[in-house]
Amino acid sequence: MARIVIIGAGFSGQTAALYLRKKLGDEHQVTMINPWPRFTYIPSLVWVGIGRMEPDKPMFELEPVYDKMGIEFKMAWAREIHPDEQYVLTEDKHGKQEKVDYDYLINATGPHLNFEGTPGLGPDHGTSQSICNIHHAKMARDAYLESVKRMEKGEKQKILVGTGHGTATCQGAALEYITNIHNDLVKRGLRNKAQIMWLSNEPKLGDLGVGGVSAKKHGYIMQSESFMKSLFAEQEIYYQIQSSVQKVEKDKVHWENLQGEQGEIEYDFAMLIPQFQGARLKYVDRDGNDITAKLTNPGGFMLVDGIYEKKWEDLKSSDWPATYQSPLYKNMFAAGIAFAPPGPISQPFVNKNGVQITATPPRTGMAAGITGRVVAENIIDMINGKEPSHHERMTEMPGACIASINKSVWNGSAASILMYPVAKDYERYPDYGRDLSTNHMEIGLAGAWVKRILHTMFIYKMKGNPGWSLIPE
Ligand SMILES: Cc1cc2nc3c(=O)[nH]c(=O)nc-3n(C[C@H](O)[C@H](O)[C@H](O)COP(=O)(O)OP(=O)(O)OC[C@H]3O[C@@H](n4cnc5c(N)ncnc54)[C@H](O)[C@@H]3O)c2cc1C
Repeated sequence: MARIVIIGAGFSGQTAALYLRKKLGDEHQVTMINPWPRFTYIPSLVWVGIGRMEPDKPMFELEPVYDKMGIEFKMAWAREIHPDEQYVLTEDKHGKQEKVDYDYLINATGPHLNFEGTPGLGPDHGTSQSICNIHHAKMARDAYLESVKRMEKGEKQKILVGTGHGTATCQGAALEYITNIHNDLVKRGLRNKAQIMWLSNEPKLGDLGVGGVSAKKHGYIMQSESFMKSLFAEQEIYYQIQSSVQKVEKDKVHWENLQGEQGEIEYDFAMLIPQFQGARLKYVDRDGNDITAKLTNPGGFMLVDGIYEKKWEDLKSSDWPATYQSPLYKNMFAAGIAFAPPGPISQPFVNKNGVQITATPPRTGMAAGITGRVVAENIIDMINGKEPSHHERMTEMPGACIASINKSVWNGSAASILMYPVAKDYERYPDYGRDLSTNHMEIGLAGAWVKRILHTMFIYKMKGNPGWSLIPE
């Protein structure tokens, strides 16, 4: 009998749990450690954050799903991992600690939202908003609707959306939010009352942390930069890129750009994505020493089978992790946002004052789901006495950014950017790093349908309903 413990019931952890339970006999134990009783389908928080979706719609209770599937559930935070003694130290909401023993461990803890990295950032201790979790999305909705009320009274409002740190990621989510705000205000007849602005760390508009996307259409090569420029021109969204937010105050944001210039932007409502770091987990050896620095990169993401510390320009496809197995403890894996990428996909920059301005690599829902499945399959290999045989690098995975502009199924619209692979591979695709015949960019109703269908399909899948494994990650 093997005991498999998963930390984190998000996209990657939940996918891993479902595959393990589907493919392993009942003699093996699967345990999920998660601090909250519910699963959240994070992409739909964009709609919650403007009040166009009820907060309970992207969520479901985990316990009934786990009861049905035979997964043990511990509602607690993982605080420490003891890889020599093979246990996780957890702490529940009453402060009660427990040692949870494992034979195999999956770290699927997603991001620590590092609001502390930018003074004044975030809704809990600062003045900007976030849509990165349900609690924040509800606060963003309330603040946004307050701005809407002011506009209804005739006041002008300055709306600022983008990244709140020089090395933030998730530009796709921010893009989706800004286009949804534009459309919501058009519907309310208030668009002329708002000045909407995009502020980001991208080196070029449309970079999205993946170094931009090129696609072939009618024999022409289209760049995501021109795609985004025309979208923003059409929606009258002003933009400033190549900027690191340095500080947020009640009514203004302080930025510094690639040239080392500094400035301020005033706002009434701001939604800025924080820097993502690895979850605050401590790794402890059998002598009680803190070995976190040996098992994680400086950002706290768990080191797996990637080749780390190479320069961006030297990174090859084979440097990206394939099995997501820890090199030091072979029974430990990381999936989703929790694993350390070998470097950025987008070109990194540091300005003359030493400020890093780099759009760090997104690990989208698709990548999180795929890595969740891969680690589950590799653990099953090991239980069966084999070496991990399942490999899928981010240079072999497709990526999609479907930024809904308007969620209506009748006259909705979405900007769809599809790419293969997510992380560029110049060995296979020397010109653009990606397959131009697969890449695709388009604005239209079809994308709005896909986005809405994805919401329903993924929640169906994550609940482990009949046929769930037929729905691709
Ligand atoms: C607003 C927004 C919109 C997005 N839209 C899209 C989209 O349209 N398409 C797309 O592909 N991707 C999208 N993404 C990205 C997508 O949500 C992530 O890729 C995905 O959630 C990552 O999955 P994960 O399993 O790594 O982490 P998560 O889904 O964040 O799950 C991590 C889990 O671990 C738990 N956890 C954390 N720390 C601990 C601990 N110490 N102990 C126990 N449990 C812990 C958390 O509570 C959480 O349940 C979006 C992201 C955001 C923020």
